[in-house]
Amino acid sequence: MADKVGKKSIAVLGSTGSIGQQTLDVVRQHADRLEIVALAANTRVGILEAQAREQGVAHLALGDEGLAADPAASGLREHVADCAGAGREASLCFGAAGIVELAQLPEADIVVNALVGAAGLRASYAALKAGKVLALANKESLVVGGDLLMPLATPQTLLPIDSEHGAIYQCLLGEDPREVRCLWLTASGGPFRGRSADELRDITPEEALAHPTWNMGAKITIDSSTLMNKGLEMIEAHHLFAMPYDRIHVLVQPQSAIHSMVEFADGSVKAHLGTTDMRIPIQFALSYPERWEAPVAPLDFYTLGSLDFAAPDTDTFRCLYLARIAGEAGGTLPCVMNAANEVAVAAFLAHEASYLGIAACVEAVMEQHDPAPAESLEQLEAVDAWARQAAHASLDR
Ligand code: MG
Repeated sequence: MADKVGKKSIAVLGSTGSIGQQTLDVVRQHADRLEIVALAANTRVGILEAQAREQGVAHLALGDEGLAADPAASGLREHVADCAGAGREASLCFGAAGIVELAQLPEADIVVNALVGAAGLRASYAALKAGKVLALANKESLVVGGDLLMPLATPQTLLPIDSEHGAIYQCLLGEDPREVRCLWLTASGGPFRGRSADELRDITPEEALAHPTWNMGAKITIDSSTLMNKGLEMIEAHHLFAMPYDRIHVLVQPQSAIHSMVEFADGSVKAHLGTTDMRIPIQFALSYPERWEAPVAPLDFYTLGSLDFAAPDTDTFRCLYLARIAGEAGGTLPCVMNAANEVAVAAFLAHEASYLGIAACVEAVMEQHDPAPAESLEQLEAVDAWARQAAHASLDR
C-alpha cells in the first residue's frame, strides 16, 4: 500500500458502468491522493478510451473478445502504443482473462470491482489472492463465491462498496463483533412498494428502471424493484460480517436516509445516515482508514422530515424470500439463484419475460437444484452455466 506521501494506485474493473464512472469522479476529486493504473470494461469501448486518455492509464482490458478485431478498438490500441512509446509499461487485453489479469496487476494497491454479475467472481478471487485491497461493488462475487473469498480476506483487505454494507462496516468500527446482536439492513422498498402482486403483473422495464432514491445501473435497478437486490445484500452481509441469517433483518426505510444499522447486546443501535450518493461509500472504501472531504451535499435534517420504517412484503416481493431460502441452504444454491436471476432480469429488460416471471423463473430453477458445498471456482462456474440454461428453458416455457 502506498504511504501517505505516495498515491494509492487503483485498478477499476467495470469502469464504464455507474459505479465505475462515479469512482472516476472520486479520483478526479482527490487526484493528489489517488491514481488509476488500470481500467477494464465489458463492451463500452468509446467511454473506456476517453477514460484511459483523460487519466493517462496504460493498462486496459475489454471483456468482450469480439471487440479485439473491431475498428472501434483502434483508438485504444493507439493510446496503449503511445504509452509504450513513451517508455511506460502498457497492455491491452481482451476477454474475461484479461480483466482477471488486471485484478492482480503488480502496480495496483486497490482493485475496485464494479463488474456486473457472477462474471466478477474470478476478478475478486484473483485480487484477494494477489494481496490487493478489494473494494467490492460486485456483490454477486460474495453471493456466489463468499465461501471461497472470505478465507482470503480480512476487514482491512475487503471493503464493501455498497451503501448498506459500507454503513454496517462503519458502525462496527471499534466494536467487538461478539457484542453484536443483529444487523438491520435497510431497503428503500423500490418503486413498487405497497403494491399487490396483481398490480405488478404488467410492469414494464421502463417503469421498473425509475428508482426513487438511488441512481444506479439497469441490472441493479431492476433487482432493487424486485427486492432481489436486498436478498443479494443479505447474503453479502452474511459473508462480510460472519452473521447468521436469523440475525440479519431487512427493514424498509423509504427515504433511504438510514443506510443500515447495527444492534448490540445492550440494546443500543448504531445507524449510519448520509446523502444517497454512491460516491460517499466509494470514497470511503478508497480513503479508509481516513475520511476525506466529499463533493456531495450533506444530509439536510431540517428538510428531511420524518423517517418511516416497515417490514418488507415478502409475499408480493418473492425474490427476497427466495434469497433467504438460498442463503440459509448455502453452498451452491445462492449461485443458482443468482444465475437464474441474471437471465430472468436480462429477459425482462429485453421485453422477453414478464416482471413477475423473474421470481417465478428463479424459484423454478432453484427447485431443480440439489445444493452441494461450494468447493472451487470451476465447480461454481459449472453450476452457474447449468442454472443459466435451466433459466432459459424455464422462461421459454
Ligand atoms: Mg445497496
